[in-house]
Amino acid sequence: MEHTIQAIGLIHSCYTEKFGIPRQPGLVKSAKGAVELLPPCNREEMFKELETFSHIWLQFMFHEAVSDGWRPTVRPPWLGGQRRVGLFASRSPHRPNFLGLSVVRYLGLRKEKGKVFLDISELDLLHGTPIFDIKPYVPYSDRVEGASGGFVQISNNRITVSFTPEAEASCQQYQEQSGRELKSLIQEILEHDPRPASQRSQQREYGMLLWDRNVRWLAEESGFTVLSVMETKSR
Ligand code: SAM
Repeated sequence: MEHTIQAIGLIHSCYTEKFGIPRQPGLVKSAKGAVELLPPCNREEMFKELETFSHIWLQFMFHEAVSDGWRPTVRPPWLGGQRRVGLFASRSPHRPNFLGLSVVRYLGLRKEKGKVFLDISELDLLHGTPIFDIKPYVPYSDRVEGASGGFVQISNNRITVSFTPEAEASCQQYQEQSGRELKSLIQEILEHDPRPASQRSQQREYGMLLWDRNVRWLAEESGFTVLSVMETKSR
C-alpha cells in the first residue's frame, strides 16, 4: 500500500543558514527554536502529557540538501574530512530520502496568534526544516548502556572565544530588545569550531547568520574574536 507523508510542522530556528549549525543536537545548549505545528496536527490534545518528557525525537527532512543529491560514501567531519565511510555509517544530510533524526530538549507548548508551537532547545536544525514526526525520548530504551560510538568521538578541546567591546554591546542590546541570549549562543557555536576541516589552519574572517543577525569573527591560531554583530533583514 502506498502512503504519502506530509510535514506536520516547520522548524523556527536560531540557525538561519547551515554554516554554524552544530553536527548534532545537545552540543549547543543555548540554541533555541520551536516547531510550528501544521493542520491537522496543530491540535493541543495531540500533545497531552508530552510535557512529562524532558526530550523529544524529531524526524525531519534535510530540505536544503535535496538539490545536492547524495553519494554512496561520505567524508564525515568527525574524521577531519580525510577518510571515506559508507553513507549509512554516517549522519550525513545527503542520503536517499534526506531524512534526519534529532533528540532535542522540550520546553513546552505555546499558543500564539492562533498558531500552536512546541518550544525546543539544543537543536541542530535549520530554520524552515519540515518535521514529519515527533515522539517522546524514552530513556529506558533509547539510552543504550555500553554502546560504541564508532568513529564519532567528541573532542574535549574548545576554541578560546573573545568578543570586541562593540560585538559584546550589540549582543547585550539584542538580548534587551528580543530576549534572545545571543552572546552565549555565539560562544558555544564557536567553541566547537564550525569551520570545515580543510580550513582549520587558515587565519581569516568568517560570517554566519543567527536569528536576524550577521555575526563576523576572526579565526586565528590563538582563538576566535567576534568582531561584529549586525542586523540582517528581519524574519
Ligand atoms: N541529528 C541529525 C541526524 O543525525 O540525522 C542531523 C545531523 S547532521 C550531521 C547535522 C547537520 O545538518 C547540521 O550541521 C546542518 O549543517 C545540517 N542541516 C540541519 N538542518 C538541515 C536542513 N534542513 N537541510 C540541510 N541540512 C541541514
